[in-house]
Amino acid sequence: MSPVEGIEAADRARRLQRVAERLAEAVTPEEVLDAVLSEGVRAAEARAGAIGVLSADGKSVELLAQQGYDPAVMTGWASFPLDADLPMSQVVRTGAALFIPSLRERNELFPALAHQGQEGHAVVVVPLAVAGRVFGAMSLSFDDDIDFGLERREMKMTLARQAAQALARSRLLEAEQALRKRMTFLAEASDLLASSLDYNRTLRQLARLSVPGLADWCAIDILGPNGEIERLAVAHQDPEKVRWARELQERYPPDPKAPHGVAQVLRSGEPEFFSQIPPEVLDESIGDDQELRRIVDELGLRASICVPLKARGRILGALTLIAAETHPLYTQADFELATELAHRAAVAVDNARLFREAERGANAALALAYVADGVVLLDREGRVRHWNGAAAAITGVDEEDALGRPVREVVSGWDTLAALVPLVPPGSAPRPVTLPLAHAGRERWVAVTGVGFGQGTVYALQDVTEEHALEKTRSDFVATASHELRTPLAAVYGAVRTLRRGDVELSEDDRTLFLEMIESEATRLATIIDQILLTGQLDAGAVEIDATECDPAEIAASVIDSAAMHVPEDISLALDPDGSPRIVCDENKLRQVLVNLVDNAIKYSPGGGRVEIRLRRETSHCLIEVVDDGLGIPMDERNRIFEKFYRLDPQQTKGVGGSGLGLYICRELVERMNGQLTVASQPGRGSTFTVELPLRR
Ligand code: ADP
Repeated sequence: MSPVEGIEAADRARRLQRVAERLAEAVTPEEVLDAVLSEGVRAAEARAGAIGVLSADGKSVELLAQQGYDPAVMTGWASFPLDADLPMSQVVRTGAALFIPSLRERNELFPALAHQGQEGHAVVVVPLAVAGRVFGAMSLSFDDDIDFGLERREMKMTLARQAAQALARSRLLEAEQALRKRMTFLAEASDLLASSLDYNRTLRQLARLSVPGLADWCAIDILGPNGEIERLAVAHQDPEKVRWARELQERYPPDPKAPHGVAQVLRSGEPEFFSQIPPEVLDESIGDDQELRRIVDELGLRASICVPLKARGRILGALTLIAAETHPLYTQADFELATELAHRAAVAVDNARLFREAERGANAALALAYVADGVVLLDREGRVRHWNGAAAAITGVDEEDALGRPVREVVSGWDTLAALVPLVPPGSAPRPVTLPLAHAGRERWVAVTGVGFGQGTVYALQDVTEEHALEKTRSDFVATASHELRTPLAAVYGAVRTLRRGDVELSEDDRTLFLEMIESEATRLATIIDQILLTGQLDAGAVEIDATECDPAEIAASVIDSAAMHVPEDISLALDPDGSPRIVCDENKLRQVLVNLVDNAIKYSPGGGRVEIRLRRETSHCLIEVVDDGLGIPMDERNRIFEKFYRLDPQQTKGVGGSGLGLYICRELVERMNGQLTVASQPGRGSTFTVELPLRR
């Protein structure tokens, strides 16, 4: 090596050392590029330099930075195909450096460049590679023609190696930082989405969280139940702009048929990603509206991502991110992040909706469980789908035994019910049909309504047994009153008419007979009216019991005595006092009860016989039995005779009249005195009515 060459070599080493020092300090890709291009170009004694890298899809070379070239010329070279016949493309493709000593040779090698950048001379393009993988190239242009010797070539290669390593390291670091930022953002967004079931609010917060990190503008749209698009959130860092965007939204409501953007994504369920919005897409959306064009120009929309919010195959809405005034153009990684974010948001919305539905369903079931009316839901095939507690109580069939089974198998007589109850469409007022339903040997009266809807039928069953009984009592009362009051009245009227007739001569005995008849029929009328009044008082709880210590034998004796005054001749009366214990009761009420029972005993012994009151003492009670050997009462009627207005068939009572209130009053009075009234009977051989009252303590 000559002394000059030695000095030059030492000089090159020093320059390379300086580049290495600058590169060591550079952290971000921008700093590395700056160091390579300023220090490296100087170290290589070049006029200008540029660095290009392979694009993410591996199809082109993107120019990252340049120094020393005319910027006006370079604008056309921001990106060029990898398979182009250009020096940088060739070096990235082959990995072999190019050392071209002169412009003439460059133009010969690359005819495509023959009519551009004619001011230069020698050109060097060296590959940028790490671990044997070429990821870009660095080009250097010189002011002179240069025949590159081995050492000069070696120096450029070393420079490229240093640059490649620094650039790869900084890009890796940047990618790692970006990834971490994304993961942090996703984690934060996930926390937010999981924080509440009010998804409208969380989605609004999510939109706000996305600016400016992910976008200049973020919008979230939700698909309404009828396919309408509802803009739930618009976010921008500047609240003034958000307000403006809302006004715009009102002036230009979303067109569901729009060829791009939210409407298109909601229609197709496919995302729309423009790493750079092509002008024709904007043109298509704007149309001829000059005002809109001015607004869009002002917005400076550059890149956009619109992804559907999809869950369980259903499209719920869309998330839109837009890069405008500050955010860099979108990359594949941004698109993937937006997709993931939309996925999580959709799951959150879906969960919130499912939860709400489940809650609504549970509330409805709870309400139905406690509502007093039976509610029965049948599917189209007539199978039971819902059977609430009241339905179980009315029909006597438990929910578990009813669910899933055809209702006609669950309730006997359902077919009759279904035939009688008209089905009305939802929303119209159904008219209830009242009918009897038998269960557990009892008859329940049920008012039923039915509503038919597409997928089935709902029946509402209201237990109106009591109302029905009341109604029956009312009609019984009218029937009894009209019959039982009319008979004595007719007798009185007939007797009075006869007495007043001038044309008939009546004997004194006949007169007395008619007057006695008037008296007894008037008494019978008074008794019936008294019974009706007393029944009313009992029902109203207005009968007071004045309980004192008394002697039942004394009361029974007085009842027998007064009965003896009007008893038919073929009836004999008797009293068996047996020890006569003292009891606690209302003396007058007990007398009233016994008078009634003795009157019945006489009345229902039309063939004559013996009527006796027997007193018997038990441990804590006194039993007062009224015994007759008259008609008797059939077994299955023994409970019903105590019901209001209930009377046996006139054939069974040999036409004996009455109100049907006597035994009802007797039982009510005895029970109010803490006692019981029961009956034992043998049809045809007589009855024994037993009043059981507590002994005095
Ligand atoms: P009524 O005014 O008809 O006598 P009650 O309530 O006193 O009304 O009795 C109800 C029904 O019970 C009577 O209609 C009768 O059929 C029956 N009954 C009551 N007492 C006797 C009895 N001692 N022997 C037979 N049947 C009786």
